[in-house]
Amino acid sequence: MAEAQIIDGKKIAADVRAEVATEVARLVKEHGVKAGLAVVLVGEDPASKVYVKNKAQQTVEVGMNSWEYKLPAETSEAEVLALVQKLNNDPACHGILVQLPLPKHINSEKVLNAINPDKDVDGFHPVNVGRLWVGERALVPCTPTGSIILAKSVRPNLSGMDAVVIGRSNIVGKPVAALLLRENCTVTIAHSRTKNIEDIVKCADLVIAAVGIPEMVKGSWIRPGAIVIDVGINRVPSENGKTKLVGDVAYDECAKVAGAITPVPGGVGPMTIACLLRNAAQAAAMQIGVKSAFA
Ligand code: NDP
Repeated sequence: MAEAQIIDGKKIAADVRAEVATEVARLVKEHGVKAGLAVVLVGEDPASKVYVKNKAQQTVEVGMNSWEYKLPAETSEAEVLALVQKLNNDPACHGILVQLPLPKHINSEKVLNAINPDKDVDGFHPVNVGRLWVGERALVPCTPTGSIILAKSVRPNLSGMDAVVIGRSNIVGKPVAALLLRENCTVTIAHSRTKNIEDIVKCADLVIAAVGIPEMVKGSWIRPGAIVIDVGINRVPSENGKTKLVGDVAYDECAKVAGAITPVPGGVGPMTIACLLRNAAQAAAMQIGVKSAFA
């Protein structure tokens, strides 16, 4: 059987960043406004520090203003809330991202809910969640948006497809399901209590796996020709005694059956920051009161 088409997330993310750069330049030229994104990092989590550095670098590369607020781990909740309020009131700052996880003494929900929904580039604020589900213009979570862009790179019109999402988190599973519904797919959401998950996945034309279990989805679960989008990022021991990254999908097996598949790394991963920048450009256009290239 022919091997699946490999969906190149690195390349598609670069294309998205190029579109964002064009949009940022247009907003400067036509409206005299340079889009700006602020990232708030509290504490010393090493992975978060790397993410924040990459975000800041890519923000500058697409021509936006970038501000990094690195606060010590002992910063109080009130101080973080005061910073969010300051950024909410700053007209030069169009997007605010508070890097998770926050230290335990800070209530993440309270902080995320304090962000002005129009600046909520992560799309986690209940107002944006509501806007997404009722079909209003919303800032939509980045990884789900990236997953849909990857699926549409293979099949631009997803209408009528049977889509199965594995996972129902607020960060990935639920918003990706909402986006698939918006694309006119018939959507099934599977989770840890789902019975006969294998049989459900076997019926799917499009599978989006966001579980957090290494290589859970087997090749025998995949309907021949299906599109498989693997959101999972799991670090597992490798043969050389070090660790390696694998997805939630058993890639080698599934690539033999699927029509198209995302690799890990190099699939959904690079799309997340690209879609964050896209959201920041969209937020800037919304705040200027002009039509965005992205929504
Ligand atoms: P969560 O842990 O928040 O959610 C996992 C979901 O999987 C839950 O809904 C859970 O069900 C479901 N689940 C757990 N076990 C099973 C099972 N045996 N069968 C079916 N469903 C199951 O994870 P996230 O959504 O945050 O992340 C999922 C994966 O995506 C992780 O690997 C994460 O690292 C990755 N990720 C990647 C990103 C990227 O940029 N590429 C960004 C965000 C996440 P229940 O609700 O019933 O508990």
